[in-house]
Amino acid sequence: MKAIQVKQPGGPEAMELVDLPVPQPKPNEAVVKIHASGVNFIDVYNREGRYKVPLPFVLGQEAAGVVSAVGSEVREVAVGDRVAYTMALGSYAEYAAVPADRLVKVPSGVGDREAAATMLQGMTAHYLCHDTYPLKKGETALIHAAAGGVGLLLVQMAHNIGARIIATVSTEEKAKLAREAGADEIILYAESDFEAETKRLTGGKGVDVVYDSVGKTTFEKGLNVLRPRGMMALYGGSSGAVPPFDPIVLTQKGSLYLTRPSLGAYIMTRQELEQRAGAVFTMIREGKLKLRIEHVYPLAQVQQAHRDLEGRKTTGKLLLLT
Ligand code: NDP
Repeated sequence: MKAIQVKQPGGPEAMELVDLPVPQPKPNEAVVKIHASGVNFIDVYNREGRYKVPLPFVLGQEAAGVVSAVGSEVREVAVGDRVAYTMALGSYAEYAAVPADRLVKVPSGVGDREAAATMLQGMTAHYLCHDTYPLKKGETALIHAAAGGVGLLLVQMAHNIGARIIATVSTEEKAKLAREAGADEIILYAESDFEAETKRLTGGKGVDVVYDSVGKTTFEKGLNVLRPRGMMALYGGSSGAVPPFDPIVLTQKGSLYLTRPSLGAYIMTRQELEQRAGAVFTMIREGKLKLRIEHVYPLAQVQQAHRDLEGRKTTGKLLLLT
């Protein structure tokens, strides 16, 4: 089978198209014939070695497809089931062996591409606004990189809750998308100071929560725009990692809350995984969540996909097709 392997960490050129044997399932695993694989920023971190993965490895951790084989102990799925998953490495490939308890069945009305586009970014947007900081109607959220993969989904979910959304993006094209997704206010944060703008837009009161995936370039100013006891949900570092931080700053800025959440802790049990994926699939089926899947690449063009993602050229979801 064709797969994208990393033998040594590095830039996009570290990803090689190779031929590997189709994996055989362990007793608790199912083999998935992959139809679409999601590209996520975490793949960049894994490729670069920012997150350490034993070498060599097949990149990617989000996909949808059909079960082609199951191990002897598998009860959750059967051969022929349409499934999707995330948080298991090896999805940039034609087949992957995945722990069966990490697979969810894809309901009718949700296509393979939609399912692949939902698992990581959709469930992330869901836990951020429903569990990390459960947004309420009438509250105000600042959402950074609002036209990105997680960003566009988070804006829609926050809008559906009835929150007021202040969104940051780098270009007018991205501003249009964020607005269409439900953002009430847009700040072009590459041109204007989002701290001053957010204070102005909230009449000096500050926002209830900041959802920050950008990290290094936004974190500190984000703390300055929170209301007393507001929450900073720092869930990524697309611009780089936030430097070491003294918690006394949280006191000085108004008894703030800081969390650095990760999807894994919000889908720990199979029940929670099924509930969260099911909730997002339902939003898609009911037309409450629109996916933007404009950037679709053949597996062999993975290097271009990563260059586009890292180069801030993309909006919404990137997929690799096998
Ligand atoms: P995005 O589609 O959001 O792409 C990244 C965006 O970040 C860019 O489009 C760009 O938007 C913005 N950005 C700002 N500064 C930079 C920079 N210096 N370099 C590159 N991009 C920059 O990616 P994803 O939706 O896949 O992921 C977003 C972030 O969320 C990542 O950091 C990822 O690791 C994290 N994440 C965390 C999860 C968790 O559970 N903790 C789960 C999923 C994702 P603009 O041009 O508008 O500034």
